[in-house]
Amino acid sequence: MTGQSYDFVVVGGGLAGAAISYYLTLQKQSVLLLEARTLCSGSSGACAGRAQIFESESESYLDLVLAGFSKLESLGAELGCDLEWETPGHLSLIRDAENWETCSQKVSWLKRRNVPAELLSQDQLRKEVPILKAESFLGAAFAHEGHLSPFHLCMGYLNAARRQGAKIRIDTPVTGFQRTSGRVIGVCTPENTYSGAQVIVAGGAWTRELLAMTGFELPVCFTHAEAMITEKLPPILSHHIGMTGFYDVVHGGNQSVTLGLGQHLNGTVLISNAIQNSTEIDQNSTFWGMPALARALKQYFPIFEGVRIMRTWAAPSPFLPDYAPAIGWVPGIDNLFFAAGFHLAVPTIPLFCEDIAESVGIGRLVERLIPFSPQRFGVGIQEEA
Ligand SMILES: Cc1cc2nc3c(=O)[nH]c(=O)nc-3n(C[C@H](O)[C@H](O)[C@H](O)COP(=O)(O)OP(=O)(O)OC[C@H]3O[C@@H](n4cnc5c(N)ncnc54)[C@H](O)[C@@H]3O)c2cc1C
Repeated sequence: MTGQSYDFVVVGGGLAGAAISYYLTLQKQSVLLLEARTLCSGSSGACAGRAQIFESESESYLDLVLAGFSKLESLGAELGCDLEWETPGHLSLIRDAENWETCSQKVSWLKRRNVPAELLSQDQLRKEVPILKAESFLGAAFAHEGHLSPFHLCMGYLNAARRQGAKIRIDTPVTGFQRTSGRVIGVCTPENTYSGAQVIVAGGAWTRELLAMTGFELPVCFTHAEAMITEKLPPILSHHIGMTGFYDVVHGGNQSVTLGLGQHLNGTVLISNAIQNSTEIDQNSTFWGMPALARALKQYFPIFEGVRIMRTWAAPSPFLPDYAPAIGWVPGIDNLFFAAGFHLAVPTIPLFCEDIAESVGIGRLVERLIPFSPQRFGVGIQEEA
């Protein structure tokens, strides 16, 4: 061993790795975080920052989202930073009767929990969003929703973890894991090998290839998602607004645009998502994605004709086949834990990562995390050659 030894080595400097490191340091654990590139450079740096509620896939997941959402309201004060937290609410545009039915069911779920939500007719939608070509839609579902800066959240967690003693190394890709008798004894990087009593992989879309280094196949999938941001504009949107069906592309077509717009406090409008099926991680905007997104924008919001785009970007958006996160120990390796594929990452990561810090401390998953164990996929580990 040439590197130091820690209670925990955390792999990945995105929202999940940052939050896990912070909650571990609250438990007085010594933490080393290893990031292959720069902090918040993966999916977290591409994130639109929406703390979504309406997109919850089930009532039980909605309960988790609401519990996480309530933590976000005071998280900036806890971390000692400004998260740029605001609650603009979200309008989900409804195209057809089937979609109306699904949205109306979700509105009832929310109302039962006293969360502001309602269905809007086409006329109400036209009044609420005068810049939208409302005739293309039956109406919309309004739901409470928050927004923050994902960079501030990630760096807020990391700076707070650092203040409590965590060590952070960037430009340090993990290249392998040394193992003996069912335990990881070394985390290998090009310069050093580090040891941790426990190792936590929070590699987002890269988690599959990181865990494959141990022979464990976790079915983490991802779409290639692209977004762009405009110059500063006068106030034109009072809510986030968008279409449903982010994952529809994985059920058939290869490419799709799921338009989503949100105007930030500084006046810029973030426009997402052009989505493509993908099996290789590539963080470049594409010749298909940007024009497709711009066409959809102008079709439904003609006011954007001639508005300048300041930056475009792309990143993998990770998920598991059932859209629920995968959280637990690698079977057969006692001290190797992972957490990836956070569905509705912004509202759930604070909740799940605090639970993860508790779980690795007590050596078993806390009750809330049990449904997300990888055992649901029946996956096992291949013996080393
Ligand atoms: C365009 C876009 C918009 C989105 N908008 C939203 C939104 O509005 N709301 C929401 O909740 N979610 C959104 N998401 C999803 C959300 O961004 C992700 O689910 C979340 O950021 C995942 O965080 P993570 O920490 O698990 O992964 P990441 O942020 O990807 O972190 C993983 C880190 O691991 C590092 N890594 C990889 N390999 C290695 C290695 N070998 N060694 C060391 N480090 C390594 C990577 O460099 C990366 O920094 C969006 C995603 C995209 C792409």
